[in-house]
Amino acid sequence: MTVSAVKFVRGFQRVLLFSAALVPAVGAYYLRAVGSGGLLFRNHAVHEVAITVSLLCSAFVAYVAVRCYRSSGEVFVGWLALALIGETLVYAPHGVFTRLSHDHTALFLIYGPASRLVMSVLLLRGLIGYDQPAAVDHKDDRLRWWKSAAVFLLIDLMLAWASTRHADKMPILRLVLEYSALAATATALIMLLLRPRHSPLMRLYAFALVGFATSSVTFVYASPWTHLWWYAHAVFAAGFLMLGYGVLQAFHTTGSFSGVFSQEQLMEYLRAAKASAELTANQLKMANARLEVLARTDSLTGAVNRREFMERAEYELERAKRTHAPLSLMVLDLDHFKEINDRHGHDAGDIVLQRFVEMSIVHLRTVDIFGRIGGEEFAVLMPNTGIEEATAVAQRLVEAAREMHPSSAEGMPIDVSVSIGVACLGPDGDSIATLMRAADLRLYRAKQDGRDRVVAA
Ligand code: GH3
Ligand code: MG
Ligand code: MG
Repeated sequence: MTVSAVKFVRGFQRVLLFSAALVPAVGAYYLRAVGSGGLLFRNHAVHEVAITVSLLCSAFVAYVAVRCYRSSGEVFVGWLALALIGETLVYAPHGVFTRLSHDHTALFLIYGPASRLVMSVLLLRGLIGYDQPAAVDHKDDRLRWWKSAAVFLLIDLMLAWASTRHADKMPILRLVLEYSALAATATALIMLLLRPRHSPLMRLYAFALVGFATSSVTFVYASPWTHLWWYAHAVFAAGFLMLGYGVLQAFHTTGSFSGVFSQEQLMEYLRAAKASAELTANQLKMANARLEVLARTDSLTGAVNRREFMERAEYELERAKRTHAPLSLMVLDLDHFKEINDRHGHDAGDIVLQRFVEMSIVHLRTVDIFGRIGGEEFAVLMPNTGIEEATAVAQRLVEAAREMHPSSAEGMPIDVSVSIGVACLGPDGDSIATLMRAADLRLYRAKQDGRDRVVAA
């Protein structure tokens, strides 16, 4: 999809969400417009059951929010937990006083707007602290919750006192509380509009705020026990359920509202993690390949090492046997190498070994396998090569070694010579071990015969 198409889809998604949040307001308007908002449904039991269920639900969500705060220390979720505790405790008398609604209407009604005000102010406070760092020090302070609960219960008592002493002023107080709650909720919503928060849980939070604001407006217009009044309860409940769902979701994830990723973010992280894992795997593959080369070769001369030589030799032997092709093996040993070391130094000895390998490879074919099988001992396996041809090659190597004269670090030319024993598949054996033994014996003879020569029979 093109960038503009993606943007359009995202924009339309916002419109859908926004519209969904406004549906309860449309319902309230409709009820009021058709006049059925005035019909009464005075059923105390239904009210008691509804409030009891909602209190149990909000108490549980408040408890989960406290648990979230204790695990994440997120300031926002801390205030949210407090808001939920406040809402539960301040709202409770509204249910308790259901049966007094007729004679003590003010007492019965005041706890609704009061609880919404307490909750919305604390929610707003949480939103203000959204970017604050986690409160690591305070998160285990259990006393804080009990102290707050005491304050909320005190508010309940004060409202009870005010409702009985100043019942005439309560309708005004109710309106003041309801409008204040609305103002707090609207402020939070405006803050979110000005600075959108991209956590998916904050979307639920905003959704809940719209529900609370809608219910506050509806309560302002609704007389007790009317359909509109019941409907306002339902709208508030819808907002609350959204918020509760968000809290439970936070509990299942990071214990915070801000630290939860959206699906898009998760996909992005997943893509990045996959790319990084692939990069690491490739690096590992390359490192392994390098290690493999290191494990097969001798670091001083670059020739294959003994183990690798043996493996390849076995492979070539099997092939030669299968195809009845000739195969020769030579074992080479530099002469008086100890003396070279003693006279010119160990570093000069190393140089001789390197030059000797370079020189030999020039004289061999690519199919020949050249390996360093000991300190100054080498072996060459020559596929498709009979004893005469191998002996000729060995002879050329002896002569070339003689001509080398590599210089020591001091610039002194070093005399080098090599002795070689040659063996071939068939007459001298039919395994690498026997061929090696035969070539070794001939090498020994070459040494005994005065070095600097080839022995092939
Ligand atoms: P010969 O003609 O009988 O083969 O005598 P040699 O001195 O060559 O044989 P000897 O086995 O007595 O000595 C081999 C020497 O090679 C001894 C060891 O210190 C030396 N050597 C082995 N590996 C290396 C190496 O990597 N670098 C150097 N500079 N010397 C090495
Ligand atoms: Mg030796
Ligand atoms: Mg030697």
